[in-house]
Amino acid sequence: MAKHAKLIAGNWKMNGALGANETLVRALLEGAANVACDVALCVPAPYFAQVQSLLTGSQLALGAQDISAHPHGAFTGEQSAAMLKEFGVRYAIVGHSERRQYHGETDEAVAAKAAAALANGITPIVCVGETLAQREAGQTEEVVKRQLAAVIHVNGHCISEIVVAYEPVWAIGTGKTAAPGQAQAVHAVLRAQLHHAASEHAAGVRILYGGSMNAANAAELLAQADIDGGLIGGASLKAPDFLQIIAAAA
Ligand code: PEP
Repeated sequence: MAKHAKLIAGNWKMNGALGANETLVRALLEGAANVACDVALCVPAPYFAQVQSLLTGSQLALGAQDISAHPHGAFTGEQSAAMLKEFGVRYAIVGHSERRQYHGETDEAVAAKAAAALANGITPIVCVGETLAQREAGQTEEVVKRQLAAVIHVNGHCISEIVVAYEPVWAIGTGKTAAPGQAQAVHAVLRAQLHHAASEHAAGVRILYGGSMNAANAAELLAQADIDGGLIGGASLKAPDFLQIIAAAA
């Protein structure tokens, strides 16, 4: 399967305000018109309508930071895939380490969320990654393979539709980026696992790197053979930084 363009996805996390969002999105629209890569903004749910309206007619896609595994009902605080669709959401992050850590999301829950997204035409950005303790114990491969295996187990038939994000937990929001070779080594493991699950589609699945990617280190990370884009937290809130990352991918 042919390679897609690179994908640069911003994860605003729980940041934003109506005024600041408008300034940020307008700057991105101006700076990223006609870029040769895919760009998504994963914004907090209360801002879907605002950002949807700002992005209308542009190449930039709207994304969510989570999605419910359930279609509707008594799940206080959750948002269903159908609700996200109503706001034109095209991507949903699932299994971000902050949700695994603070909300107890299991591999099985993450797989079910990916399935809900796929069933509704939303591309799940499935996050996997090891903690520092797991890396130091030599468990990196085992951890990321277990996390991805759960998603493949439930969604193997449409594996070509997912995006994977390798996000070493020790690199998220810490300013400590994985060295390009260190990231590439894990991406190659994930690619091989995808190949094993669906050989004809593995090359076409985008595997993003996330974890303190910034304007200075993006180009080298994005030049690695199996790094097909980035999932960017902190730097996605600053238009000049995010635009430089987009430029590095394009
Ligand atoms: C993230 O939240 O997915 C992330 C990678 O954050 P940061 O870029 O701030 O490390």
